[in-house]
Amino acid sequence: MTRPGVALERLDAYDPAKTLEALRRVLAPLGGMERFVKPGAKVALKPNLLFGRAAGKALNTHPEIVRAAGRLALEAGAGELLIGDSPGFGTARGAARLCGILPVAEELGAAVVEFTPVEHMDRGRSFPRLELARELLEADVVINLPKMKTHGQMLMTLAVKNMFGAVPGTRKFQWHYRAGRDKLVFARALNEIAMAVRPALSILDAVLAMDGMGPSSGRPRWTNFIAAGDDPWALDAAIMDVLGLERSLLFTLLAASGHGPSEWREVEIFGESPEALRPDDWDIPELVTAQMHGGFVEKRLPRLADWLRARISPPPRANGRCVRCGHCVAICPAGAMRLDPDPVIDREKCIRCYCCHELCQYGGMDMRRGGALARILGFGG
Ligand code: SF4
Ligand code: SF4
Repeated sequence: MTRPGVALERLDAYDPAKTLEALRRVLAPLGGMERFVKPGAKVALKPNLLFGRAAGKALNTHPEIVRAAGRLALEAGAGELLIGDSPGFGTARGAARLCGILPVAEELGAAVVEFTPVEHMDRGRSFPRLELARELLEADVVINLPKMKTHGQMLMTLAVKNMFGAVPGTRKFQWHYRAGRDKLVFARALNEIAMAVRPALSILDAVLAMDGMGPSSGRPRWTNFIAAGDDPWALDAAIMDVLGLERSLLFTLLAASGHGPSEWREVEIFGESPEALRPDDWDIPELVTAQMHGGFVEKRLPRLADWLRARISPPPRANGRCVRCGHCVAICPAGAMRLDPDPVIDREKCIRCYCCHELCQYGGMDMRRGGALARILGFGG
């Protein structure tokens, strides 16, 4: 079996010509764009469009990465190009306009599409029935364009997590509710969604990334590289190497162990070495750090862990930036929030999905550390 390949390449600014050349270089060891895009192919680009924000905020895949990927796909002979995602709120077109992707789409002749749900059945899976974006399932080639960011619930959002955007609109919140407080169940769902969409190629934007309390309220960080791979799990494994973190700390890789969707342990790395690109002080969410390093109960006694987490792991809390818009109350998958007049969370009902933190456009929700007991048991202390 051939090993999945991941290529790493430095890029220190979103200069259009330099970005295009960096993409050519990063794709060369994988066979170039021509390996993935055949003449006449219908190509779907799937950036991370969390919600509309200026590119400098690092919430979304940068427009220059989208432009360069689109240009190379057209050079390879793509017959049709579309750009789509399912943002946390608002439309894909609205988010694309605010982050600068819309003019790039117009220049490329690509439509920015809103995803429509279609049923995808695979009886061999843990989640046999998925509702996914018709536009991705019907494309000849899906090119995944994730942004490197920390993620309060999943540790990082990289290539596999970016495929969650293939779930249209509010159906994403249903997945959170279905998984409940068990992160590994949610990670398994993410893996199966990525397996169903099967992006042929993933190109990660890690030029301006986000650490700390990502994926929306963290710190934009210049990490100055891009990465590409034909297997999203392998790409994520390589990025954990770059960050100097154990691969199994990433929930989607942990959930893939034993019945893995890919051979990500055997990844072959081209270009720069992971160590050469390692950022100095990559800051992962404290909540996740504590969970990962003290999760004995979580691993051995998951039901007890769930019961304990509801009692001792602190739910998020509104801060002074909250403008009481009510969006978090409307999207909370567990119906655990109300406005009174600030958002109030029922800690018993809260499933610790952190959607309220992720999707507040004002940075109005804080994630919190728990007390000593939470830290000892490893539940977000
Ligand atoms: S936390 Fe954010 S989303 Fe929730 S009410 Fe406050 S401003 Fe709105
Ligand atoms: S209160 Fe926030 S963290 Fe808790 S279930 Fe609702 S959205 Fe998720």
